[in-house]
Amino acid sequence: MEYMKSIRKRNIQYRTIALIVVSLVSLGLLSFSPYGLLQTSAQEESEPLPDSFSYHDVEIINEESYLQNSNTIDYTIESGETLLGIFQREGGLSYGTSLALVQDISEVFSINRIRAGNTISFVFSNENIMSISYDISSNEELLVYFEGDDYTVVRQSIEYEVVEDFVAGIVEDSLYQSGLRAGLTDRMIMELATVFAWDVDFTSSLREGDQFFLVFEKRYRNGEFAGTGNLLAARFLNNGNEFFAYQVVHDDGSHKYYNENGDATEKMFLKTPLNYTRISSGFSLNRKHPILGTFQTHRAIDFAAPTGTPIETVADGTVVFAGWQGAYGNFIKIEHGGGIATAYAHLSKMNVKKGDRVRQGQVIGEVGTTGRSTGPHLHYEMYKNGELVHPLETKTPSGDPVPDSLRSTLQQNISLYRPLLTRN
Ligand SMILES: [Zn+2]
Repeated sequence: MEYMKSIRKRNIQYRTIALIVVSLVSLGLLSFSPYGLLQTSAQEESEPLPDSFSYHDVEIINEESYLQNSNTIDYTIESGETLLGIFQREGGLSYGTSLALVQDISEVFSINRIRAGNTISFVFSNENIMSISYDISSNEELLVYFEGDDYTVVRQSIEYEVVEDFVAGIVEDSLYQSGLRAGLTDRMIMELATVFAWDVDFTSSLREGDQFFLVFEKRYRNGEFAGTGNLLAARFLNNGNEFFAYQVVHDDGSHKYYNENGDATEKMFLKTPLNYTRISSGFSLNRKHPILGTFQTHRAIDFAAPTGTPIETVADGTVVFAGWQGAYGNFIKIEHGGGIATAYAHLSKMNVKKGDRVRQGQVIGEVGTTGRSTGPHLHYEMYKNGELVHPLETKTPSGDPVPDSLRSTLQQNISLYRPLLTRN
């Protein structure tokens, strides 16, 4: 076993070198790989090798011939097909072996969760079947490894090689388009908008010249790019304000983000009830400014948005009114505790009723133009102790600070990533 481990480590190093090459090749104008920061995945570092390690042992031993002579067939499952049939036809297995295999697989994975449109991969070497694999999720795979007439069924974590990447960009039109130009994936743009959703109103306060900086994971599987992983750290310069977010992984595996003071970026109140990540394509600096009028004119914020745009409650609370209210049209008011309430008017659709408990970010209704309104918009009010206050400028309670036990982890992440996030 010890021998196998050392072989395995060498194999990982080989892949790592390949990844350095990959990341160097992908250098872009605004994107570069920071000092070749490389990590193997968390599982590889923290988990001891399991006793039933036969698959990996065999894989490494056979690697030479495997690479030279193997061919992989990625078979897309069609509707109405059975595993039994696929194994016989695509894998060339006998009826008896296929039947036994289906039974063995069903002991580790519920077969009716295998969906048409998904892929089953068959690897052959010199016409002999070597393995069958199926991705249960982006984190877990089902694997059948053949050795002569024997096979082993394993359900295991997918091992990714993880590379850290850095991207910076400038907002020219929409955050979405600017993010794409800087080389971010859709998913990472959404992560960025989500992590700063409590600090920045992306639907109305984004400015040309705003800047974003991100350090995030890129995952590779067998040397091929397999999507972005977690956002590790980010900085956003918005209209003269600077925001930082650093990921800290908690003991239960959850990921939370904190600023440099150790305050959670996640707060009790979202910046706005219109979630940028739900409506990203519609919002651009080229559009007419989405805030109509000023707070002074009627003590509320009006967001221009198309009818049907989802409206989210900005904080947990209880619905105290949901119904028709004269000039307000369809109107929802929610109390959040601490003397703060918010209200949403002119809705085309209401998803909640009086007395409902709501969670921050829950879609409570849709933008409309009911009541006294000249066009589709959301009229958004905030009350503090019964008085109307400015929703975007009122100080609201912050979230939990980083736990003491994780303060040093946060500090390490700040030391590691701050120099990247702040370089010019
Ligand atoms: Zn209004």
